[in-house]
Amino acid sequence: MDHLLPPDIVEAGRTFPSALAACSDLDTLLRLKGAYVGREGSHAARLMDLLKLAPKEQKRELGAAINALKQQWEEGLKSRQAEMEARKRSRKAQTAGWDPSLPPPVPAQGALHPLNRLMDRLVEVFRPLGFHVEEGPEIETEAHNFDGLNIPEDHPAKASSDTFYLAAHPDLLLRTHTSPVQVRTLLRVAQDLGARGGIRFLSPGRVYRKDEIDPTHSPMFHQVEGMLVGHGIGMQHLKGTLEYALRALFGPHTEIRLRPSYFPFVEPGCEVDVSCPLCGAKGCRVCKGSGWVEILGAGLIHPKVLEYAGIDPAEWSGWAFGMGVERMAMMLSQTPDLRLFFENDQRFLKAMGGLD
Ligand SMILES: [Zn+2]
Repeated sequence: MDHLLPPDIVEAGRTFPSALAACSDLDTLLRLKGAYVGREGSHAARLMDLLKLAPKEQKRELGAAINALKQQWEEGLKSRQAEMEARKRSRKAQTAGWDPSLPPPVPAQGALHPLNRLMDRLVEVFRPLGFHVEEGPEIETEAHNFDGLNIPEDHPAKASSDTFYLAAHPDLLLRTHTSPVQVRTLLRVAQDLGARGGIRFLSPGRVYRKDEIDPTHSPMFHQVEGMLVGHGIGMQHLKGTLEYALRALFGPHTEIRLRPSYFPFVEPGCEVDVSCPLCGAKGCRVCKGSGWVEILGAGLIHPKVLEYAGIDPAEWSGWAFGMGVERMAMMLSQTPDLRLFFENDQRFLKAMGGLD
């Protein structure tokens, strides 16, 4: 069939596939399209002219050959063009709205809960003073939760209206404070307390009380308690240590004051106030204008608590303190509703970033 066609068109037909493959952009492709199947001057146009001039007996055979060539070119060009346009669209979609001057996106990461961060911070404040962390079970015995802490049989805290007792084991309960950790620790170290030269530790953890949920109460909350046992320990050591710790927490100008109070497991007992860290003791809503906020309860360990653990109160003495973590977090962050700490709304948790 080729003998009927001009040699340059035969050559163009042979090189068409490679010419098509070599088109790297739409402009080149459109130029190729013009050269092969354009309306004027293209290979296809010349073939049509040739067909018109062909002798009658050749027309049928030549026409079929020309149509086959034209069809091959047109289909090749069409599919290559569609391919290029699709690639251009996807490139455009990928880069749409992309500003190369912006910093790269940072994947969202989890973080410690604000209450855990505050507890960690308390632990870090006491660590340089030689305090380590002791932990204990949240399901406790009455002995560890009450008896070992000199809490009398008729104390209201023991009532089932205040404490969660386990239905299947009425002698077990959800601990109402982290103090049973102190009882357990004293029992454990009583024998070698002399060799140790005393003991000092913190016990952070979850505690449970039968409280209705409201903006300032929850049946589950957190405490951090601290205890130190040694020789000749008195109120001066308690006050000095708390002053150091609370200044580390709230700033170097923080003042503290001790007010007498009563807890069964300490004697004497006190409530400890700090000068309001929010207003610098000038008086604000948080400190109700007084310049002071109550921050924890403390005292010297009751001799009966030491005796229960098998420690001689004539030889050993010590102090203990306990603070509510939620209460401190609410005060520091001026959060009016305790429940926000447990609902885990991401907006709240992010805003709490400044708590530490
Ligand atoms: Zn204030």
